[in-house]
Amino acid sequence: MLTVSEQSVKETSAVFLNGESAMVSFGENLATYLSEGMLITLKGDLGAGKTTLSRGLFRGLGHRGAVKSPTYTIVEPYNLSFGMVYHFDLYRVNDPQELDYIGFSDYLDTAALSVVEWPEHGRDYLSEVDVHLTIGHRLNGRTIVLEARSEMGKNFIDRVTDCDFFTDHAITI
Ligand code: ADP
Ligand code: MG
Repeated sequence: MLTVSEQSVKETSAVFLNGESAMVSFGENLATYLSEGMLITLKGDLGAGKTTLSRGLFRGLGHRGAVKSPTYTIVEPYNLSFGMVYHFDLYRVNDPQELDYIGFSDYLDTAALSVVEWPEHGRDYLSEVDVHLTIGHRLNGRTIVLEARSEMGKNFIDRVTDCDFFTDHAITI
């Protein structure tokens, strides 16, 4: 049997979320299944809802304050009851090598959970992603496609897709 490193894990599922509060609730639901050390990437245009979803995730992990994209600082740490969480926004990163200045790889090597907006600006620095989420526009709401990129990510998606919130919002793409 092939191990994960020998095959590419391609398990895809999708939801439709109509409105900001549904987006936050989805994030809170996802948070239930996250584990330390995971790397989650959020892809989508400006205004897609990446930060809104991140806010739901962090709320689900115990955060009570505001969440804004760390567009200028690139990383915002949260010390939560869950453990350390790093929220990255790579929008302003023009060359992935700039990530060396902030010690990006060192952050990812810790046991913290990392959530990364604009992962496409990080390219090779993001080779060990567990779950990749792509947010798109549909009508006035948003679609989210969930993709597992590791064994841990696959276990996560298996559990998420079993929960009621997910099945209530599931769509086929
Ligand atoms: P990004 O971080 O991707 O640039 P934001 O999270 O800042 O985007 O969200 C941009 C806007 O999209 C906000 O006004 C937010 O209320 C709205 N929004 C987020 N999720 C949804 C959704 N599922 N349906 C409708 N509007 C949403
Ligand atoms: Mg944002």
